[in-house]
Amino acid sequence: MPPRLRPVQGWRPVTVAGTTRETASARSIRFTAADWPGHVAGQHIDIRLTAEDGYQATRSYSLSSAPGEAPQITVEREDDGEVSPYLVDIATDGDALEVRGPVGGYFVWQPDDDAPLLLVAGGSGIAPMRAIWRAARAHGTPVRLVYSARTADRVIFGDELSSPDGPETTVHLTRERASGFEYGRVSADQLSALLGSGGVREPRLRAYVCGPTAFVEETARALIGAGLAADLLRTERFG
Ligand SMILES: Cc1cc2nc3c(=O)[nH]c(=O)nc-3n(C[C@H](O)[C@H](O)[C@H](O)COP(=O)(O)OP(=O)(O)OC[C@H]3O[C@@H](n4cnc5c(N)ncnc54)[C@H](O)[C@@H]3O)c2cc1C
Repeated sequence: MPPRLRPVQGWRPVTVAGTTRETASARSIRFTAADWPGHVAGQHIDIRLTAEDGYQATRSYSLSSAPGEAPQITVEREDDGEVSPYLVDIATDGDALEVRGPVGGYFVWQPDDDAPLLLVAGGSGIAPMRAIWRAARAHGTPVRLVYSARTADRVIFGDELSSPDGPETTVHLTRERASGFEYGRVSADQLSALLGSGGVREPRLRAYVCGPTAFVEETARALIGAGLAADLLRTERFG
């Protein structure tokens, strides 16, 4: 039975059930929740942390695991941030957190959609893309990923991306040159070329763009400018 969108419930307690160091500044965290309702690829959760003095901080994190897998988020540290340093460096197995969700019915991919996918991610925007490519490829949907990271050592999910099970991927590095990577920002011309498949424009292709706001807006403008219909584009801004 494919996962379905459900109304968002209130806060629920979850327990950290495992962590994976992805890069020096990013970590994946898996949770167990007694009543986890299941999620759709692309959805996020809200996490609420409460300090001993009662101060609370809430942030959103995309689910990076595919539907049917244990809920997992993948967080990149903002060195001077409130919540991400705790999640990347401190949270440990058995810690109790509160989450709300899964949330979101727009930036989602469901198996009733057969269109080929173009995923464009900047930085930690790769998190929901992993959920989407794992779900879509299990369904037999072709997936092309363009991923922009600052440096090679900040590429998240590198092993999975280079495995035969990963999507067809191009990784751009914006701050250094390294073999096996494109150098520089993802250009409008490159995105325009990707809208075509083997030189023939694919009218059913859907595009998902996720990352920092400026990255998402520039990429979305380029895709629309290259002829992608707005209703075939989904965007998620991490702020
Ligand atoms: C739908 C959604 C999904 C997301 N998914 C992910 C994800 O999968 N992975 C991920 O890593 N992130 C994700 N994010 C981003 C995440 O929610 C947080 O914004 C991020 O982790 C930073 O939170 P923080 O508490 O560490 O930093 P914050 O404390 O929020 O600070 C962020 C930045 O703002 C600056 N700042 C804070 N307050 C002020 C102030 N008063 N004046 C000036 N500057 C200030 C800080 O110095 C810091 O540089 C997502 C966001 C959204 C909206």
